[in-house]
Amino acid sequence: MTTHVHQFICLKDNFGVLIHDSGSGATASIDVPDADAVIAAAQSQGWEVTDLLITHHHADHVQGMPGLKARYPKLRVVGPAKEAARIGGIDAPLEEGDLARVGGIAAKVIETPGHTAGHISYWFEEDEIAFCGDTLFALGCGRVFETPMAVMWSSLLKLAALPGETEIYCGHEYTEANARFALTIEPDNLALKARAEDVAKRRAAGQATLPTTIALELATNPFLRAEEPSVQAQLGMSGADPAAVFAEIRSRKDRF
Ligand code: ZN
Ligand code: FE
Repeated sequence: MTTHVHQFICLKDNFGVLIHDSGSGATASIDVPDADAVIAAAQSQGWEVTDLLITHHHADHVQGMPGLKARYPKLRVVGPAKEAARIGGIDAPLEEGDLARVGGIAAKVIETPGHTAGHISYWFEEDEIAFCGDTLFALGCGRVFETPMAVMWSSLLKLAALPGETEIYCGHEYTEANARFALTIEPDNLALKARAEDVAKRRAAGQATLPTTIALELATNPFLRAEEPSVQAQLGMSGADPAAVFAEIRSRKDRF
């Protein structure tokens, strides 16, 4: 049995992602920004979409649900319990630690509130893959719309604690702009400088910059580095509460 992931761009800068279990033939779409794009991507791989795993209620993640259900009438939809009423159409509401099964593979649900109050991420532990929606981005993180900043910081810490080799898929291709901002926080981070060059090359070639890994984010993503003395010093916040440092970095990005 093998697990395959197929990632593609939807709308302008959303990612569509499909995860396929070749043992059972099951395929899940992670969110559905655009039903036609997801259906076309599944057909390109010869896969039938059996499951839809929703991360949060924003329209650019759920708006294709009716179209996907129309094409795949047996589609099973799971999503965050705390946003199920708002999203609608969810067959199984999920909470922290629940399992989202996709044929013979399964994701553990990690509640990652912050961007939205009920946002969840999906961790396929055995496959070492996580889908973080709009919580963690490559070199960035989602805007904090619905909770205090400290709640988002706690969610990022949960993701940061996953094994370093975990492959991370995100909701958006924002990496190039994120890199420009990250360099304002850590102008002397050599790993970040090298990564920013790599990101620029990939984008110039029309390539995606995702997936990333937890290890790479820990080394280069300023939003995961609020505890680093060098980051705190750069912000004039040496010794401050990391949650406050995170909040400062996030508010600078909001104004960037
Ligand atoms: Zn969102
Ligand atoms: Fe989004």
